[in-house]
Amino acid sequence: MDSPPVDVDLALVGGGGAASLVLAALDRHGVRDVRIAVVDPVHRRGQDRTWAFWDQPGNDLDELLSASWSRVEVVTPDLHRTLDLTPLRYAMLRSGPIYERAAEAERRLAVTRILASAGRVDDDGERVLVRTGDGRPLLRTRWLLDSRPRPPRRPGRTNWLQHFRGWWLTADRPIFDPARAVLMDFRTPQPTRGVSFGYVLPVDSRYALVEYTEFSPDLLSGAAYDAALAGYRDLLGLDPARLTVTEVENGVIPMTDGPFEARPSPRVVRLGTAGGATRPSTGFTFSAMHRQAEQVASAVADGRPPVPAPAYPHRHLWMDAVALRALDAGLVDGPDFFGRLFDRNPASRVLRFLDGHTTVAEDLAVMRSTRLQPMVTATVADAAGRLRDRLAPARRPAWAVPPPVVGSASPGAERADPDR
Ligand SMILES: Cc1cc2nc3c(=O)[nH]c(=O)nc-3n(C[C@H](O)[C@H](O)[C@H](O)COP(=O)(O)OP(=O)(O)OC[C@H]3O[C@@H](n4cnc5c(N)ncnc54)[C@H](O)[C@@H]3O)c2cc1C
Repeated sequence: MDSPPVDVDLALVGGGGAASLVLAALDRHGVRDVRIAVVDPVHRRGQDRTWAFWDQPGNDLDELLSASWSRVEVVTPDLHRTLDLTPLRYAMLRSGPIYERAAEAERRLAVTRILASAGRVDDDGERVLVRTGDGRPLLRTRWLLDSRPRPPRRPGRTNWLQHFRGWWLTADRPIFDPARAVLMDFRTPQPTRGVSFGYVLPVDSRYALVEYTEFSPDLLSGAAYDAALAGYRDLLGLDPARLTVTEVENGVIPMTDGPFEARPSPRVVRLGTAGGATRPSTGFTFSAMHRQAEQVASAVADGRPPVPAPAYPHRHLWMDAVALRALDAGLVDGPDFFGRLFDRNPASRVLRFLDGHTTVAEDLAVMRSTRLQPMVTATVADAAGRLRDRLAPARRPAWAVPPPVVGSASPGAERADPDR
């Protein structure tokens, strides 16, 4: 006979990056009398990814960082820039310490961990029933934080990916400068459609993460990533005979103007990439997840609904949609686009813009730093695309209608599409 569903106040479905940050924040806020469950078929531990992000020093992550830098380099074929990020820092955090902190938090919060794959979700406006993949009731909760990976509600007008491979390199003698992190180095051969760059994040003089990244529509083969990385290593003048590849890191992150639905029904909140925390123009996600985790935890601690503010303002998502379209259509050259952004704005303004924290006046300054004519063309094309979607919603492909993972018995779950 099936056991009755677990009954909790707050359930986290998906126990990866976003959920780990929420657990750590709930613990930090001293939440103790809330019944919490985590559902994930995998209990994440150890190093499965490395997060690089910027933030203000002096927060809960300080002691977990592998490295941080107050200066970073942005390199284009014509110019080598060293950017002072003060008062911000660029930071590297490996997943191990975050998963460990989340595990400690789970113990203190007396979390019920359910190793299972969640399926359909039914929200009646008061409680949410989470089922297993084959439809059996798994748990009932007052609030659900869902971070399972999922596509946007409809495909974007531009659908790129940030895809990359990184090598953790150990050298047989000091060859890296731990004070010099390379944020983006566009001297890599550029793909016909898309943008590529390398970067270097040194932890110490003999140990660094060197990555090759593309912003483009399609993935490469494993051999092509290796060849691109070897090419970048040679460009940096690193002697392969003195280096050992100790770990390899691969990743794919969506870069799309397709809308991620953060609140699909009254008591379901989506977090992480699924909730729109990934910035479409860059793929950076971590800072928004960290910010939203703090907002969720402080709301729970105050007895308020655990609903964070949107990850980015609507106008920034529009600006990203236009930028993605301009890059995709080849209206602007990627290295020139990013180079101008950093040449014509203080670095901290660019980073605050990418975090969604700039004022409208600062946004205008950011917009002015791009080439006018191609961006006007992309803006007009974006507006035409929106109009076409509005006039012909029936042309949307089947997978773009809300998928069956979330079902809601509440009429409140049906919301107008703010993107249309
Ligand atoms: C290798 C890599 C490196 C990255 N580096 C950076 C970076 O440097 N900076 C940055 O800002 N962003 C980075 N990102 C992007 C983003 O920060 C990460 O993907 C981040 O982990 C997203 O967190 P998440 O919780 O949304 O998803 P995840 O961390 O992927 O967690 C999703 C969880 O859902 C679980 N799940 C899936 N299906 C089900 C189901 N049916 N039921 C229950 N659970 C389920 C999965 O097992 C997983 O644990 C990187 C991504 C990758 C893949």
